[in-house]
Amino acid sequence: MIDAIRAFEGGSCRQLLAMVDRRTWRLERFPAVFFALHHTREGWVLVDTGYGGRFHAATRRFPARLYRWSTPVQEAGSAAAALTAAGIPAGEVRHLIVTHFHADHVGGLAEFPQATIHHHEEALRPLRALPAWRQVRAAFLADPVPDWLPERARLVPARAFEGRASASATFDLFGDGSVGLVHLPGHAPGQLGISFALGGRRLLYAADAYWRACQITDGVEPLPVAMALQWDRRAYRQTVGRLRALHARGEYELHACHDVGVAARLNQLSPMR
Ligand SMILES: [Zn+2]
Repeated sequence: MIDAIRAFEGGSCRQLLAMVDRRTWRLERFPAVFFALHHTREGWVLVDTGYGGRFHAATRRFPARLYRWSTPVQEAGSAAAALTAAGIPAGEVRHLIVTHFHADHVGGLAEFPQATIHHHEEALRPLRALPAWRQVRAAFLADPVPDWLPERARLVPARAFEGRASASATFDLFGDGSVGLVHLPGHAPGQLGISFALGGRRLLYAADAYWRACQITDGVEPLPVAMALQWDRRAYRQTVGRLRALHARGEYELHACHDVGVAARLNQLSPMR
């Protein structure tokens, strides 16, 4: 059972909002939110890490420097330090779920060598296989991914989702129904969302399956230049369609990593802790 959540802004980047909503031509801050769920048996379960404190070091050289130029990033520093400052000893985090391997989600991964790292079995291999300049275009930096990852990784098998088209089909991470991993393909290879219940509400954290709520509520599609950055545009559209259907049915409260006010909304779910 999940009994608490703490969310953090692990840095941010600035982009034209019109890239997503097609009408607001101003630069907007897109936070890189990550959060910790408290499981009554397993302790703190971290979901992503934000940019971490090494983004600028990791993008000093070409071609990685192109990433820094295309998305101006403000770092928020170490993810482990943010947790510890919030009363969550980072060394006690036993599980870390990587939704996908974009640099704004795994920047602090190396700070949690004691944790079991859960990720989709097809999340990393296709990105690693790309030439360096195409990795940058795919928002992947090899540098923040620690060498020890293979020893600490517990892969979520692709077959867990086969033949299950609904975005609500989940992989039961701890075997107790508390944390469901949901395959949300399209944005990045093997992207996972997280479903859980807290405070009597059912939530689905969709990571980057969509960026802003207008995509779900109004069906707005990002501009072609932003769609071109998706790993698989067809799958992306299907995933957004499934999330829109879930939203319409009211089954889950949806949250996405880079939406406005996400960290504050998640923290409101367990204000007592
Ligand atoms: Zn992403």
